[in-house]
Amino acid sequence: MANAGKTAFIFGVTGQDGALVAAELLRQGWTVHGGSRRGHVSKLWRLEELGILDKVNLVNVNLLEPFQIVEALTSLRPDHIYHFAAESFVADSFHQPHSVIATNVVGTLNVLETMRIAAPGAKLFFASSAEVFGVPPATGFLDETSALQPINPYGVSKLAAQNLVKVYRERYGIHAASGIMFNHESPLRARNFVTRKISYNLARLKLAGGPPMSLGALDAARDWGAAADYARAIPLTLNLDAAEDFVFATGRKTSVKQFFEYAATAAGYDPVFEGHGVAETCRDRKTGQALAAVSEKYFRPFDTQPLVGNPARLKERTGFAGSRDAAAVAEEMVAADLKRRKDGAIHV
Ligand code: GDP
Repeated sequence: MANAGKTAFIFGVTGQDGALVAAELLRQGWTVHGGSRRGHVSKLWRLEELGILDKVNLVNVNLLEPFQIVEALTSLRPDHIYHFAAESFVADSFHQPHSVIATNVVGTLNVLETMRIAAPGAKLFFASSAEVFGVPPATGFLDETSALQPINPYGVSKLAAQNLVKVYRERYGIHAASGIMFNHESPLRARNFVTRKISYNLARLKLAGGPPMSLGALDAARDWGAAADYARAIPLTLNLDAAEDFVFATGRKTSVKQFFEYAATAAGYDPVFEGHGVAETCRDRKTGQALAAVSEKYFRPFDTQPLVGNPARLKERTGFAGSRDAAAVAEEMVAADLKRRKDGAIHV
């Protein structure tokens, strides 16, 4: 196989992106080691569902224990390192800013310092976030040259880490690339993100009934891409001669309501919305079944405005064809959650 003998280490291998990139690298013939925190057994379901749990060598690594990182990287000597380990739920970052800064900034610094001292020849991909931009531009799309003005602790943490990656690239010559990731979804998303909350609950409503789901701002919008498509593009960035930062985006904006409509239609419903603001509800036109209601509980006092990115650099440098759109992602997620519920797998 083309990549026999090549070794990758993935920090955060039990998360959505870590698991998808692990699957992609295994397909390409890489040996894959994955860092995850001991005690997170409940998070192995993603690797299990992808059928790769026994193919990834799991290593106990806590990003805030630098010597664990030193031990892992010096003993395993990976060619490529992927860093996805982070606290990733933006809304929570106002409630636990200390742990977000510690994990996302100090954790990344620990990876970079270990590379500088013990593995300077390895290549690094770091998953940053569109939250580094903070505010939409007056016109057009966000790209690698846009202003960086984060508006929440999560965005600040990702910007600091992304800047550290740049410093280690420029100051020490480490081949380190950041992916500025716009929202990207898959059936492996955690259920606190709105897309998965929708697909999970639509499958529940369809096959088990029960009360409608509660949602927050329906007019909020995101540039939603397909995580599995980005997982195919991510390794390509490390095959380039020069390390750079890359925007991963679709260039299209979709509202929560629109995403819900795509997903509900994929589940076999004909969704109709009625009412306004907190009184807005959604039901199935044919059966009258209540599907969703708005709850103030999920409103965010400081929500991020829709950010839409331009992935031209990524496409140009790597030949990446682009991501599937939000409608396709909604269909994929609903199909997976319907299948899980039929199989009795409802706790993932
Ligand atoms: P984020 O962009 O990383 O914060 O991803 P989320 O999936 O958590 O949120 C995306 C958008 O959906 C935000 O603008 C939320 O305000 C909006 N949203 C609307 N209803 C909900 C909900 O019930 N849960 C979540 N998580 N977000 C919601």
